[in-house]
Amino acid sequence: MTGGGAGAGAGGVVGAVAVVAVAALRERAAELDALLARLDADEAAVREDRADATADDEHDPEGSTLSGEWQRIEALRRATASERAEVEAALARVADGTYGVCAVCGRAIPPERLEVRPMATTCVACAARRAG
Ligand SMILES: [Zn+2]
Repeated sequence: MTGGGAGAGAGGVVGAVAVVAVAALRERAAELDALLARLDADEAAVREDRADATADDEHDPEGSTLSGEWQRIEALRRATASERAEVEAALARVADGTYGVCAVCGRAIPPERLEVRPMATTCVACAARRAG
C-alpha cells in the first residue's frame, strides 16, 4: 500500500472518457464515410444496370431483382447515414462540453457505457425508461 497516486480526480473522468471517445468516434466516422462512398458506387452501378434492364425490359426478367438490390442498398445507406449523423452529434457534444452527460437526468453517463456505445446520449436508467 503506497497510498495516493490515484491520479485523476472524479472531475477528470468525463474529460478522459471524451478523449477516448473522440478517437473512437473519428474512427467510426471514417468507416461510415468509406461505407457511404461504397454504397454510392453500388447504387450507381445498380442504376446503370437498371437502365439497361429497362431498355431491354421484355427480354430481361432481372428487373425485379435489380430493384430488390436497390432497396437493400437504400436501406443500408439510410442506416449508415443516420449513424453518421449520431457520430457527428456526439462529436459536437464533445466540442461543447456536454459529452458523457445524460440528456435526460443530467448525470454522468458511466464510462463503461460510453465505451460500448460512444454515441449514447442518456444513462442506462434513462435509456431503459425511454425504451419502456
Ligand atoms: Zn439519465
